[in-house]
Amino acid sequence: MTENSKPKVGIFGLTGCAGDQLQILNCEDHLLLIASQIDIVDWVMAKSDNDHDCRLDIAFVEGVVATERDLESIKAVRARTDFLVAIGTCAVWGGLPAMQNDIPRHILQEAVYHEKAEFLDTVEARPVTHFVPVDYLLPGCPIERHEFLALVRALLIGTTAELPEFPVCWECKGKENLCRVVHFGEVCCGSMTRSGCGARCPSHGVACSGCRGPLEEPNYDANITMFADRGISWKKIGEKMANFSAPVWMTMGLEQEVNDDNR
Ligand code: SF4
Ligand code: SF4
Repeated sequence: MTENSKPKVGIFGLTGCAGDQLQILNCEDHLLLIASQIDIVDWVMAKSDNDHDCRLDIAFVEGVVATERDLESIKAVRARTDFLVAIGTCAVWGGLPAMQNDIPRHILQEAVYHEKAEFLDTVEARPVTHFVPVDYLLPGCPIERHEFLALVRALLIGTTAELPEFPVCWECKGKENLCRVVHFGEVCCGSMTRSGCGARCPSHGVACSGCRGPLEEPNYDANITMFADRGISWKKIGEKMANFSAPVWMTMGLEQEVNDDNR
């Protein structure tokens, strides 16, 4: 970026639902302000006049790598940008598309597309972080608008925004909700999930599904004990966390506990 010029920004989607890009569009009034501070040069979802080759200062990428084309795309974006942000739980942790990686692709393809399946080039769904170095991870399914805006503001002044390092439970207590585990005996992932959503689900009477992905250092021993005391097996918790972060969850050394029906 030359002095006094606006940073060149690209926003991209791999395999996913486009919900994170939609969240950016939903910033509405803020978006006009952002657009006055940055130069969005490549965003196929939002504009028709795009430069697909220019050098980028910042790239935001949503979705998983689930096809050979996705892999080519993420490598190309990484090669042309100085700063790469993975946006959304798919890009950060694998998200929903990775929840059935244990089933061979051809079985899934044939179940959905029948005789047309042979045209698909799908591979096991993996997060962007699995293939290229990523400079910043912005989780959420979809991302939180206030966290996206805080990050953009921070990048504009040459720094990055800090994400909360505490679990959803912390925000849930602040809302004075009754705990879904203690009071309702439900499988709630809040104690292991990174906060930032304002404990949205428990605040509406629904247990957390772990959509923002795991905290860096959840207290697994205390969690195992807490759930076991209430008759909830670690297998159930593992299965629920794996809905949004299967590739990482299964490399945390927890396979044994997750597969152990006795816990
Ligand atoms: S993280 Fe959620 S909102 Fe974003 S692409 Fe994946 S499924 Fe959609
Ligand atoms: S409460 Fe859990 S599932 Fe609900 S939005 Fe927050 S992190 Fe996602």
